[in-house]
Amino acid sequence: MNTPPPAIDFARIPRERLPALLRTMPKAELHIHVEGSLEPEMTFRLAARNGVAVPYAGVEQLRAAYDFADLQSFLDLYYAGAAVLRTEQDFFDLAWAYLERAAADNVLRAEIFFDPQTHTARGVPVGAVIQGLHHACRRAHQEWGLDADLILCFLRHLSEDEAFATLEQALPWRHHFIGVGLDSSERGHPPEKFARVFARCRELGLHVVAHAGEEGPAAYVRSALDVLKAERIDHGVRCLEDPTLVTRLAAERVPLTVCPLSNVKLRVFQDMAAHTLPALLQAGLCVTVNSDDPSYFGGYVVDNFLKLFEAHPALDAAAAYRLARNGFEAAFADEARKAGWIARLDEAFAGAARRPLTCSRSLPRAAWTLALNETTMRSSSPSYGSAWCASHEGKTTSWPGRGATSTDGGCR
Ligand SMILES: [Zn+2]
Repeated sequence: MNTPPPAIDFARIPRERLPALLRTMPKAELHIHVEGSLEPEMTFRLAARNGVAVPYAGVEQLRAAYDFADLQSFLDLYYAGAAVLRTEQDFFDLAWAYLERAAADNVLRAEIFFDPQTHTARGVPVGAVIQGLHHACRRAHQEWGLDADLILCFLRHLSEDEAFATLEQALPWRHHFIGVGLDSSERGHPPEKFARVFARCRELGLHVVAHAGEEGPAAYVRSALDVLKAERIDHGVRCLEDPTLVTRLAAERVPLTVCPLSNVKLRVFQDMAAHTLPALLQAGLCVTVNSDDPSYFGGYVVDNFLKLFEAHPALDAAAAYRLARNGFEAAFADEARKAGWIARLDEAFAGAARRPLTCSRSLPRAAWTLALNETTMRSSSPSYGSAWCASHEGKTTSWPGRGATSTDGGCR
């Protein structure tokens, strides 16, 4: 699906209004490792529940340890943190906490990675992992209409035989995951290492994605496409080192699930201003914005959008729309669901372009209600919104929720 965007007058959405729009616009998240959403508070809660020792005195000390030199130093802490996850209930709680956060960020579609080998190596049954995560996804759909599915990832620092064994263990729950991915330490572990197990997964009708071109070279992106037949590339930012590859990615419209805060935290780029996402977009690539391991990297998907746009003044409302739309187009979902999500995205941007450039405080009650409905995310999630205020130099206007009166909100 790559139909042109509808006639939305993006020029009528001033940059000052973008933070509010980035928060509330419908979005998909396609690159999130559920174990990487384990917040320090939950680490200690689960550690107490399961009688597991945590080698940090408290939440603040653990958070302070999140100062990484590279991918490997992060992975060492990530695997240590996952040790508190033991039971099906733990995996439910972990996924539920992420999904609550995603719902608040107006994520309509989440494709969630999980690493079974991180848990089976500690004696946790793979069924407990998958069932706990699956039940959280199902409940998020029932409660909020948030559409979520699971993608099983193989750890690339382990062998292909171990990946085969993991696949076999997981097959009784085949109906609970839609695809497989490849993550963990990239350097020295090229996609070719997993050619046979990915071929088997494709035979099983599973979608196939792979991390490539994060710390590893552009050549890994090529082999992820040619050898693994990856349908999406996770990260892929180093493709820019190979112009022929960039041309191919654009022509074949291969989605890249880019994670800006992760790239800065793991020093793929020295700071957000140096991030090449605008160049990838400029090259016509199907770029999406995602959080990767939000607990460890300083933010969930909205934080990634906000920090990216803050550091790149050239990114405007049309870029925000394109990035969000790419996320829906790149999702593993049928065309009817994608069209429904994109229609909601169109509505959000068309509404933002129509909104009068005046302070909501001075609007009559009817206009207030209209503004409220445009930005209220969904009836069961916390209802709040904000609008750009021209007469108050771009400060946000907020109100407490659906049903509020015109006197409940005001410029801050
Ligand atoms: Zn990742």
